[in-house]
Amino acid sequence: MAKILDRIHVIEGIGKPDSPLNVFLIEEKGGQLTLVDTGLPGFSPKILEYLQRNGFKPEQIRRILVTHCHRDHVGSLKAMIDATKAKSISHWLEAAFIAQNPVYDGPPGSPPNWDPVRVDEVVKDGDELDVLGGVEVLHTPGHTPGHISFYSKELGILFIGDLLFNKDNKLILTPPEYTQHTQSAVISARRVVKLQFEHLLTYHGPPIVGGARQKVEALVSKL
Ligand SMILES: [Zn+2]
Repeated sequence: MAKILDRIHVIEGIGKPDSPLNVFLIEEKGGQLTLVDTGLPGFSPKILEYLQRNGFKPEQIRRILVTHCHRDHVGSLKAMIDATKAKSISHWLEAAFIAQNPVYDGPPGSPPNWDPVRVDEVVKDGDELDVLGGVEVLHTPGHTPGHISFYSKELGILFIGDLLFNKDNKLILTPPEYTQHTQSAVISARRVVKLQFEHLLTYHGPPIVGGARQKVEALVSKL
């Protein structure tokens, strides 16, 4: 898929061809890069290959934002930190699960088989990060307890993590089999629909570029 918005890429080749995982790469001012999530274990070579193909160097990645502790998001976190020396950032609650201290016991139930990472910077709801000129951290629990989304009001972009899936081009709430507490996810969805945004960057299913808020509104009205 590659470049989907002015400064945002989707790394190609992460996940299965019929169900790709959207690892986002953000071009910051001054030549720095930010990565949002990292894919399953073993995907760092794909990410590094994408960087090389597009004329970027691994050390340009200065931050890795982590939406939550699931294996398909943190699987290559340690490998990407080793390759880039980037700073990792997650919600304070999720940081403990990413470090496997304690081991996460929520769905989907498989053992947490990724390399544990001590996250460098923990954030909370309402914090501002120097990404895309300024994004707000939104605590959007439900899928996992410390799941976060990132919101650029100025650019109308919402990185939604796994709160919403764009499954087969149909927007749905996080599926129950992967979800720690569905009612909390409903409340999180009600919260984000109040924001002004145009683009919804989903991890599962194609990101929605343009007209996204109306689609979220239609979904939330039925929850
Ligand atoms: Zn997940």
